[in-house]
Amino acid sequence: MPDLSGQHAIVTGGGSGIGLAIAQALAGAGAEVTITGRRKQALQDAADATPGLHPLVMDVTDEAAVVDGFAQAVAARGPIAICVANAGIAEGRSLHKMDLAFWRKILATNLDGVFLTLREALKTMRDVPAGRVIAISSIAGVRGLRGAPAYSASKHGVIGLIRGLSEDYMGGHITFNAICPGYVDTDIVTRNTAEISERTGMGEDEARQTMIRANRHKRLMEVSEIAAAALWLCDSASKSVNGQCIEISGGQT
Ligand code: NDP
Repeated sequence: MPDLSGQHAIVTGGGSGIGLAIAQALAGAGAEVTITGRRKQALQDAADATPGLHPLVMDVTDEAAVVDGFAQAVAARGPIAICVANAGIAEGRSLHKMDLAFWRKILATNLDGVFLTLREALKTMRDVPAGRVIAISSIAGVRGLRGAPAYSASKHGVIGLIRGLSEDYMGGHITFNAICPGYVDTDIVTRNTAEISERTGMGEDEARQTMIRANRHKRLMEVSEIAAAALWLCDSASKSVNGQCIEISGGQT
């Protein structure tokens, strides 16, 4: 367990699912963690339940909100040492049925949102002795995901951004890595099950079974499994891990 006492972390989409599990793990290691999202109540509930979590309403698709949100967080808790760009949406649609608005919605959250988040984080990370940037991509960032080309494109883009940053800031005091989960049991999977069922005509249980079967261990993963990897990436023991994408998927790819 790393000692993150006194470090300020920010986790986008930290009010639920994987982001909340990561935020709780970082707070458990002593960090003060700003958690962001659009749903004020979800953030407040999370902060009330776990000491060390601090809610901040911030839509990652809104440039002014991200600039202002980071300024507020830094003013309250100092420069960011750990930034976890986790906020994302997952919706599927075949390309020939996709309008530009749908494409832009996915890219605006999953890729533009990561760009805006990391840009503001890097401005403040100059002032910390050691920084950690972690982006939550997906196995859809290393292979295609059937029925979800826009999502796959956005998650491939996240890995490209992380690799590019690790080159740009090579030799510096910040590491940049992506985590690529397979199916994790969160609201996204529940929503996707309903959406796949509606799109393909298969029952919801069958859609869920498809996701379970994709994992060679025949299970949906738990958020704690992703949080454990994020925590390790924040440890000084992993300081030489840079520009990588760590797949956690039960051998899905
Ligand atoms: P959740 O739906 O629980 O988490 C998504 C989070 O992103 C929410 O907290 C949501 O908060 C936030 N979010 C979405 N859009 C915005 C926005 N415009 N601005 C700010 N915050 C936003 O699902 P997961 O925990 O599963 O997803 C977390 C990440 O993990 C995503 O990037 C997802 O693509 C990725 N992932 C998930 C997998 C899975 O199987 N669960 C597999 C691979 C990757 P709010 O609604 O309050 O804005």
